Amino acid sequence: MKFVSTRDPSLSATASVALLEGMAPDGGLYVPEALPAADMRSLDGSAPMHELAATLLAPFFTGDPLARSLEAISVEALEVHVPLGTVQGKPAHLSILELFHGPTAAFKDFGARFLAACLARVRREDARPVTVLVATSGDTGGAVASAFHGRPGVRVLLLYPEGRVSAIQERQLTCWGGNVRSLAVQGSFDDCQRLVKQAFADASLRKRHALTSANSINIGRLLPQLVLFASAALRVREARGGFANFVIPSGNLGLGTACAYARAMGLPIDGIVLAHNANRTVPDFFALGEWKPRSSVATLASAMDIGDPSNMERLFALHPDRAELRRKLRAASVDDAEIRDSIRTEFERSGLVLCPHTAAGFAAYRGLPERDRLAGPWVVAATAHPAKFPETVEPLVGRRVDAPPALAHLLQGQTSRNLIRAELAELVAHLESPQG
Ligand SMILES: *Cc1c(COP(=O)(O)O)cnc(C)c1O
Repeated sequence: MKFVSTRDPSLSATASVALLEGMAPDGGLYVPEALPAADMRSLDGSAPMHELAATLLAPFFTGDPLARSLEAISVEALEVHVPLGTVQGKPAHLSILELFHGPTAAFKDFGARFLAACLARVRREDARPVTVLVATSGDTGGAVASAFHGRPGVRVLLLYPEGRVSAIQERQLTCWGGNVRSLAVQGSFDDCQRLVKQAFADASLRKRHALTSANSINIGRLLPQLVLFASAALRVREARGGFANFVIPSGNLGLGTACAYARAMGLPIDGIVLAHNANRTVPDFFALGEWKPRSSVATLASAMDIGDPSNMERLFALHPDRAELRRKLRAASVDDAEIRDSIRTEFERSGLVLCPHTAAGFAAYRGLPERDRLAGPWVVAATAHPAKFPETVEPLVGRRVDAPPALAHLLQGQTSRNLIRAELAELVAHLESPQG
């Protein structure tokens, strides 16, 4: 299998090269040259997630050195419980897919751990250590740090906007030490992302430090995510018959793109609704047909505060005809008042305690026309544990939300960080310094 650049299909790479480079040399994103058809007869929804992953992802690694290790990689990344719980049975069936039982309590653990397990096995010719550079507005950095911490041959530099992440998120970014270093940037998330892009654009810097990306522009983050939807759709089919419809809290569209990939491979998936917050770039495209990226606005669902989602480029590549793309997926925008209302009412309705991102998903579901809801079954993806956002969630449900044990453990102990100005020279100084 070859992966090709979204901008120039003549630029191709095998899986391990695509994962190692993070981004195609022309600035495009790597996408599979063709999506393999899943052999539906051999797939079993009751199989453990890692077994399903080894089967479904094998074609993507054909001819690649990582193919031999795919089973072990899948176990490392996907041996996590992913419950699918019924929220309501009638009149329309609705369930919740809990993707937050990994070590940092957000779905990004799956992609980050899969990528880490792959990169740890890719032997570079010059055996130089790889440097993973990540700009984070919150959840990505913690998941990536957790996945790469203590792995030989890899170091991680996390850039986050000083003063603009939640207290729990900051702890998750700064509690590691060892091969993970955190840089608090005096600026916004956009400044962090700009610094990372500038570092990547400097070919000699990129080569000298073997820079790679662990943001969802890296195809290694997306592949394991398609297995999450495959598993859920197979479980829905076995329990209820028929195709599953998904609502996916979305920002950079990595999770939504993975779901679209699973559907294109032939898994029993029907509707896909992308639930965005007040950052309306994607919902406006689906409503009006014009693609107009803009700067992001801050919301309660901060991990989805993205005005120019990178993975849209992958959706355009999957459905090059824009009218068809607008028929194949749908999108909704949910503002902060609706997010608050959703957290409150879903708790009253069924006792569910939702994080602000998942709450946007439930609000998008409730906003669907009734005939669409009745045509279910529907599944809302729950992307983070509510205990990561106690300032927002606790006052709305009127009780304490306890952190799961893995998260609670992270919240104890030492932290360390380096404060830098939003200038490439300061980032480079950290890249070149030996303790990093
Ligand atoms: C990252 C994130 C999202 C959005 O996922 P994308 O793949 O960027 O669309 C939604 N919810 C949570 C909790 C996240 O951390």
